[in-house]
Parts: sequence; C-alpha cells; structure tokens
Amino acid sequence: MLVYLNGKFLPREQAMISVNDRGFLFGDSLYEVIRGYRGLLFEAQAHLQRLQNGLHALRLRVAEFDRLAEIAQHLLATNDLLQEDTTIYFQITRGAPFPRKHAFPAEDTPPTVYVTANKLAFNPAYLEHGVAVITVPDVRWNRCDLKTTNLLANVLANQQAHEAEAYEALFVREGFVTEGSHSNFFAVANGTLHTHPISPAILPGITRQVVLKLCHELQLHVEETPLAATQLPEASEAFLSLTSAEVLPVIKVDDKKISEGKPGEITQRLQRAFGEYVKALRKY
Ligand code: PMP
Repeated sequence: MLVYLNGKFLPREQAMISVNDRGFLFGDSLYEVIRGYRGLLFEAQAHLQRLQNGLHALRLRVAEFDRLAEIAQHLLATNDLLQEDTTIYFQITRGAPFPRKHAFPAEDTPPTVYVTANKLAFNPAYLEHGVAVITVPDVRWNRCDLKTTNLLANVLANQQAHEAEAYEALFVREGFVTEGSHSNFFAVANGTLHTHPISPAILPGITRQVVLKLCHELQLHVEETPLAATQLPEASEAFLSLTSAEVLPVIKVDDKKISEGKPGEITQRLQRAFGEYVKALRKY
C-alpha cells in the first residue's frame, strides 16, 4: 500500500513524520476526506475548495495544492483501487520546525502533506436499517467550520455513543442541535425538514450541500434553522449526512424511537435520489 508524504509515494510502513511536527504537537493541522466511487472523486472540487478555505484561514501555503486531485488518482491507480469504493484522506500540517514554539515558524518551513487512499470502511446494513444516536453537550470551540485535526471533543463524544451502542453523538449547543461528531444532522419536525445553517458552529458538510441540492430538485422544502433539542423526541424522521454514508437514517435518539424505529419516507427518497445522483456522475 503506497501513500503520499511530502513529495514522495512510499509504502505506508515507511511513511514517518517528525516528533517536531506541529500537527502532532499542537494539532496545527487540517484534513479532508473525499469519497472515491470506483475512481470517481465525488465532489472533489467542493472538498478541495473547503480545504483551500481552511488553509487560507490557518495562513498555510501548500506548493502542491493544485496537484492533490492528481495525487489521489495516482494512489487509487497504484494501489489497485480504481474498481473499489474508497475514501481518500488528506492531511496538511504547519511542518516540523525546531524548537517547539506556539507562534508560526519561519516562512520557509515546508508544510507536511500526507495523502492516503483506502477501501471504504462502512457497514451498508446501517443504510437500510438506520442507526441510533445520543445527544451530548457541544463543548467544542467556535470554529467548527474549519476541518482541523483537533478532534478530541468529537472523539470523546463518539466514544460515548459507541459505549451506549449508538453510531453517532449529536452535539447540543445552547439548547440547539448543531451536528454530529462526524456528520451533519437533518430532522423533520412539524412536517418540515430542518438542518443547522452554515455557521462557525458546524462543518459545512459537502454531503449536506448535495442533500440540499437534491431537496431543491425534489421540491422538498428545507429550513436551514437549528432544531431545539427538545423537539427531537417529536421528530417524525431524522438522518445524518456524511461522506462515507451519504444519507444515513436515524431511528433512535437517546431512548426515544424516531419514525417507529424505521428509516422515514423522506429519508429514503433522499437516499434514492443520492444514489441516482452518483450513478449519473459515473455515467452508466
Ligand atoms: N461534521 C463533522 C464534524 C464532520 O467531521 C463531518 C465529516 N467530515 C461532517 C460534518 C460531514 O461532512 P462531509 O459531508 O463533508 O463528509
């Protein structure tokens, strides 16, 4: 298995980063994940634009930025993944200067650039049957719109979900659901589909954006307004949107079943529409 690290394609076991790396020391680092549908990089432009926006916000410059899609394609080809469903992971850190100092290193410090492509690891049974979620307080910072590798709050929340035999944890901030630990959240309440608006409180999910486009095409009204956590038990259906699962039905929130414990109708319509959208891109 070859990965890309700092200008070279090399076996994963030989890919090493320095103990001085600012991604390791400070979490001074961004990441991105693109899904590959048999060699097609899904919404690559939108994912790379989000990464570009993050680099700009962190004031990081990456010489090979324009080659990232090509590097991803090369990894798919050399690792014999062109016929597989995959995820391509990109991570960029502010390099490995010495000594350790909080402020930015010298301008000429090269960033660390890592790219790896792997088979998609997602249980498709979840798409059919739906998943349980729990709610947890949103203790994260106010720049959740940046896809940084500072994921400790997300890790702890997701572990709590795992221990409760749930798939995902929904963050609740000031009484409103923001998003999941690694997904965006949609719910139908009082007959209207809701999702949190784009703001520093959520990651602007690429899947979320595709779902909104599909809603528009299907003439499904969506309100980009946050849902109060107190409305969750009354939701008639709910789902998560995320790169690895597209549209993932939610059938239980904490101890309360949603849509009688089965994927809801709107959710299933969007799942089908998503499938068609991908199929059309793959030009069957
Ligand atoms: N929110 C968070 C916190 C995430 O980590 C993710 C997945 N990266 C998402 C939302 C969904 O984003 P996307 O649809 O781009 O995968």
